[in-house]
Amino acid sequence: MTDTSLWHPFADMHAVRGAEFVLERGEDVWVYDTAGRRYLDATASLWYSNIGHGRPEIAAAIVAQLGKLEAYGIFGNMTNAPARDLAARVASYAPMPAAKVFLTSGGGDSIDTAAKIARRYWHAKGQPERTHMISRTNSYHGTHGIGTGLAGIAANRDGFGEYVRESERVAHDDPAALRKEIERIGPEKVAAFFAEPVIGAGGVIPPAPGYLEQTAQIAKEYGVLFVADEVICGYGRLGRWFGIERFGVVPDLITFAKGVTSGYLPLGGVISSAEVAAPFWDEGGRVLRHGATYAGHPTCCAAALANLDVLENDNLIPRGEELEGPLHDALRSLAEHPAVAEVRGGTGLLAAVELHPDALAANPAAIAAVATHARNEGGVLLRTLNTSLAVSPPLTATEDHFTIIRQAFDGALDS
Ligand code: PLP
Repeated sequence: MTDTSLWHPFADMHAVRGAEFVLERGEDVWVYDTAGRRYLDATASLWYSNIGHGRPEIAAAIVAQLGKLEAYGIFGNMTNAPARDLAARVASYAPMPAAKVFLTSGGGDSIDTAAKIARRYWHAKGQPERTHMISRTNSYHGTHGIGTGLAGIAANRDGFGEYVRESERVAHDDPAALRKEIERIGPEKVAAFFAEPVIGAGGVIPPAPGYLEQTAQIAKEYGVLFVADEVICGYGRLGRWFGIERFGVVPDLITFAKGVTSGYLPLGGVISSAEVAAPFWDEGGRVLRHGATYAGHPTCCAAALANLDVLENDNLIPRGEELEGPLHDALRSLAEHPAVAEVRGGTGLLAAVELHPDALAANPAAIAAVATHARNEGGVLLRTLNTSLAVSPPLTATEDHFTIIRQAFDGALDS
């Protein structure tokens, strides 16, 4: 293969150059490389292809919108029909009554937006010293500025300097740690707490029983805003429109992206409770001086609306919960393999196979080796995380696909 000019995210380019893996097309849970070889997309690409690849109705909706008005900004009082319709629809799914929706271009963009809304809200409420943001160990909140500052995966902060001075991390599984940290900082200085309902890129870690309910209660007690990062868990991954609904928690802000378009075009957003939005929606002339060129991009919004139609019409949202048991059952006994430390999952259609520390010590490249074997020999695309391999197929996947994934793991781990 010829050398490349493309700088891949999260990649050792010395290893990648000359060894790129080039995909060409996709159909439902399958993707095909340039040689025509077929692979099972066991990860829905980067956790986002909730409806699967190649749906012609999404392409048609995109083409139709391109033919009408491909793009136009929505600053000030300008808008377009797809952006208005999408906001109304997303608000109608949200657990917060009378929610408002701020549109962005993706997940990291949404995290930075939510953090700025939280700080600006407190500023507007006469508490400008509430600037601290607390996240969890192992959390992933994207790679924009504030998301980098919040990263619970330490390696994603290392070497970049300090992005957010007032940011702290607490143990991901201990509600008492949140209370302690709020008390240590001083509750009057804490703006928001960020939590993924199920931690994704940090290793697929479902919440400890009661964790989300209790941290939401603690946040409420101290007036700290609870931000549910639903970039992975939203739009069916946990069997609800938003994963946090499974835990009966009503957050103040929700960040979303990925599944809202199933990746057909880039789009994300922040859902705000009416209370948090009020200083900017009520009379008084207060403006949130934030937003990007492509906020409310009509073609991206048209793709999202068509995707939401598919999620609804094909009844895909509940599948995130219906399939969580079968997926976990298919993978669970991998834990008996000597190279495996643990299989995590069982909450939503996502799981991770954690390799044993001894296996990783014996072969530091073991994670990549398992993924490569699964791809080349098993025809299955897995996602490599730090010490584990993640599985999060499209919501259209079936138990037959889980068997194929299991077989690919068996072969790769034995090798
Ligand atoms: N938040 C979570 C929980 C994510 O998993 C991700 C991406 O994987 C992001 C934020 C960042 O989203 P994006 O990559 O679209 O910027």
